[in-house]
Amino acid sequence: MRTYQNFIGGEWVGAASGRTFQTRNPADTREVVAEYPLSGAEDASQAVAAARIALPGWAGMTAVARGRVLSKASQLLEARKPELAELLTREEGKTLAEATGEVQRATDIFRFFGGLSYTLGGQTIPHDLPGNLLYTTRSPLGVVALITPWNFPIAIPVWKIAPALVAGNVVVIKPASQTPALALEIARTLAEAGLPKGVLNVVVGEGRSVGAELATNPDVAGLSFTGSYGVGHQIHQQLAQRMARSQMEMGGKNPTIVLADGDLDLAARLVAIAGFGLTGQACTATSRVIVDKSVADTFAAKLVEKAKAIVIGNGLKQGVTMGPAVSEQQLDGNLKYVEIAQQEGATLIHGGARLTDGDLAHGWFMQPTILGNVKPKSRIACEEVFGPVVGIIPVDGFEEAIRVANSVDVGLSASIVTRDIKKAMLYAERIEAGVVKINQISTGLALQAPFGGVKKSSTDSFKEQGAGAIEFYSRVKTVYLDYSA
Ligand code: NAD
Repeated sequence: MRTYQNFIGGEWVGAASGRTFQTRNPADTREVVAEYPLSGAEDASQAVAAARIALPGWAGMTAVARGRVLSKASQLLEARKPELAELLTREEGKTLAEATGEVQRATDIFRFFGGLSYTLGGQTIPHDLPGNLLYTTRSPLGVVALITPWNFPIAIPVWKIAPALVAGNVVVIKPASQTPALALEIARTLAEAGLPKGVLNVVVGEGRSVGAELATNPDVAGLSFTGSYGVGHQIHQQLAQRMARSQMEMGGKNPTIVLADGDLDLAARLVAIAGFGLTGQACTATSRVIVDKSVADTFAAKLVEKAKAIVIGNGLKQGVTMGPAVSEQQLDGNLKYVEIAQQEGATLIHGGARLTDGDLAHGWFMQPTILGNVKPKSRIACEEVFGPVVGIIPVDGFEEAIRVANSVDVGLSASIVTRDIKKAMLYAERIEAGVVKINQISTGLALQAPFGGVKKSSTDSFKEQGAGAIEFYSRVKTVYLDYSA
């Protein structure tokens, strides 16, 4: 078992209350993974104060010098990839291959923003008069708070921390209590890479105390949140009170449309990866498959074959392709939705049950689940499950497919399987989603491209990832200089 402390002002410190809590391996709950301080508002407020002290020094460095720290952190993280991937699997449950990919993503993001530091600057704009220079500069917001979910415990913290730091901000991050280890390991790595004390602070504890303090502390100039709609909506209101900058990225109900002309083998493969990979615990996971009814049965049969081939178990074991749900609560929620779906008239085509054979009895395992004949307005078709549960909605042609795809109040990622380029392009134009995938999985993002949702998936004010991520973390100042006299 590992023992962690908060990281505040460059020091490892316990919670003011002296209380602690533990995380357990969701694949085998007999294993305690780590112990953490159970922090509260007081600890969060101390972290904000420590960040404020560090701000002038960090903001006063050049972006290139800050970028060097990120590039160095990338190298250090890469060297620790096997160790950190194993830790991630133990705490969150995803397979070792998935965890290794996620740690690699974090190293690549640091490398990307390290390099980007050479390009950060303003614009020169032609003035209407001679002898005048008109230009913009970029400055940091100040203290930025980050609140992150459990499902990508290293990638999401890093895709917020890297642009925040390179832009010159100081940061307080509150990782999700189910999986805090990786955020603390990032802090350790950045400190080793030369990050000055107080520039990055990590406080572990409950959302309603630590998170609420970060959302309401007047010294927090901006807050970037990823998580559920209910919490994001509440934090957004809290930030609006004092007009602090707000970036909320929330859930989805991501469709994959399968048209009659599409390659059904490809469609089954894509839906199996995007629906059951990562145990369905990705915000961009496919959860609705909107299939032309002429091919719905054939498609379902192919998807069942893919589901049967999935090997469920402890993600550290070789050959396992799907790990457990992250917690008992998550597993119960998934199973409850399978029940609700059937009460609403959907047919259970495959799976639907908890798995308790042998060692599986000690973890939160369930079968990959396929529901057929799902009605577009039913709860299973509209509410996020966040587990390996895929509902097939039969429709009559392309127009109805788009209508159904757009009939939910969220819009994160959306995929289509078709050989018809015109329909693919019309889909890209008309689908209400932040990310569109054509003949590709709905999950999986390029770190150099903008990411974010629309509708209730996001405040839709700033994008994350890619070079544009800097926008949220910086302010533009316009400078007028007259040298004509
Ligand atoms: P969650 O909303 O329960 O928690 C997210 C974070 O908010 C955690 O750190 C939690 O401790 C904190 N929190 C909880 N209550 C709070 C409060 N009152 N004030 C401040 N902070 C509080 O979400 P989760 O279960 O950790 O994550 C799953 C959700 O995240 C899903 O809805 C998923 O779709 C979404 N998600 C979205 C994206 C995206 O980029 N759009 C990516 C990953 C996950």
